[in-house]
Amino acid sequence: MPLPTRILARSRALQQRAESFLPGGVDSPVRAFRAVGGDPPFVERAEGAFLWDVDGNRYLDFFGSWGPMIQGHAFPPVVEAIQNAATRGASFGASHAGEANLAELVQRCFPSIEKLRFVSSGTEACMSAIRLARGFTGRKFVLKFEGCYHGHADALLVKAGSGVATFGIPGSAGVPEETAMHTLALPYNDLAAVEQAFATHPGQIACIIVEPVVGNAGTILPATGYLEGLRALATEHGALLILDEVMTGFRLSLGGAQELFSIRPDLTTLGKIVGGGLPVGAFGGRAEVMDFLAPLGPVYQAGTLSGNPLAMAAGISQLQHLIDHADVIYPKLEATTKAIATGVEALAHAAGIPLTTNRIGSMFTWFFTGQPVNDFEDAATSDTAAFARFHRAMLDAGVWLPPSQYEAAFISTAHGTDEIEFTLAAARQAFSL
Ligand SMILES: *Cc1c(COP(=O)(O)O)cnc(C)c1O
Repeated sequence: MPLPTRILARSRALQQRAESFLPGGVDSPVRAFRAVGGDPPFVERAEGAFLWDVDGNRYLDFFGSWGPMIQGHAFPPVVEAIQNAATRGASFGASHAGEANLAELVQRCFPSIEKLRFVSSGTEACMSAIRLARGFTGRKFVLKFEGCYHGHADALLVKAGSGVATFGIPGSAGVPEETAMHTLALPYNDLAAVEQAFATHPGQIACIIVEPVVGNAGTILPATGYLEGLRALATEHGALLILDEVMTGFRLSLGGAQELFSIRPDLTTLGKIVGGGLPVGAFGGRAEVMDFLAPLGPVYQAGTLSGNPLAMAAGISQLQHLIDHADVIYPKLEATTKAIATGVEALAHAAGIPLTTNRIGSMFTWFFTGQPVNDFEDAATSDTAAFARFHRAMLDAGVWLPPSQYEAAFISTAHGTDEIEFTLAAARQAFSL
């Protein structure tokens, strides 16, 4: 395969400069392109479905800031909301109307969220939800699933997905065994394993936390009855069910995976889309559980920038637009994603390349494996070298996929017919190399 022909001289220079100040030149590991090779383009600006790098190259974006950009980059209503809010002050450290306004929109989409609290990231949302579940139940153990990523809080960095899976890190250094010993990591889509865990630790499991559709091992769908089974087992054993919808919330439908699959969790964690691209996370659910939080209850949780006015304004604008146009937006996302995901899959198969496509709504993954992918072990059968070659070829053709086999790709409403054709042409070229 020929080496990429794109000139990334300025990006390379900026990467070198960044490396002298930032470990690996990045603030989040998978941005470094270690898993796929080549130079990571440095972004100059983004608009709609496209990113432009500092070398003047344009890329069709398939990671959408890892999820938030469901309506494309620099979406005008969100830009305007942020600009207006900024003129009134960037942060107050005191209450303002925007917090309840965004909370009300969230609740309209997620009826299971009776009360919620805003934080600044998905990591914080999941970490806080776990603490709350432990405080509410008075139990220690947390049940999670292999390949699911719930942010990088110590207790959740056990067999985690995303960058942890990408770099093959079994559990992070710096997390004491004593911290991780109350986290049980089980295979996804295996209810018998969950039953077994409850039997082994009777009355000790505080919560089950799960990505209802896994995105952080690449996209993996729940088997029929799996989520219902988790709900039933949690209820039966007095544990809380936490659906981590940081990725799926407002993406699979307005009400996330829980609306799609009709599952009512005790707690939900949100992030990404809810902040319109600004740093926001949230966790919420049953009022009696949420009222365990300080200042009402004994579980402490706080944040200097929580409920930040710019972030609330961006979130309100993004959610209001999604709510107002949901009947157009979600079917369009579905149709575009289907055309791209199945179109590229057909090209791969025509070229004799084994490829398994997992897709739901506007998230999908092309796994370079010949077998179905229903859990992390299946995902790990992927030929990551073949994925890396594909990634480089697509990037060279102007299509920027998430730079790891173990990440979901995302489509926005800014992706349309031209973008479908552009992607298929790029893939045709990539597979023929
Ligand atoms: C991205 C993600 C997180 C972590 O959110 P950050 O904002 O990156 O801290 C947690 N859970 C899921 C399911 C995610 O996709």
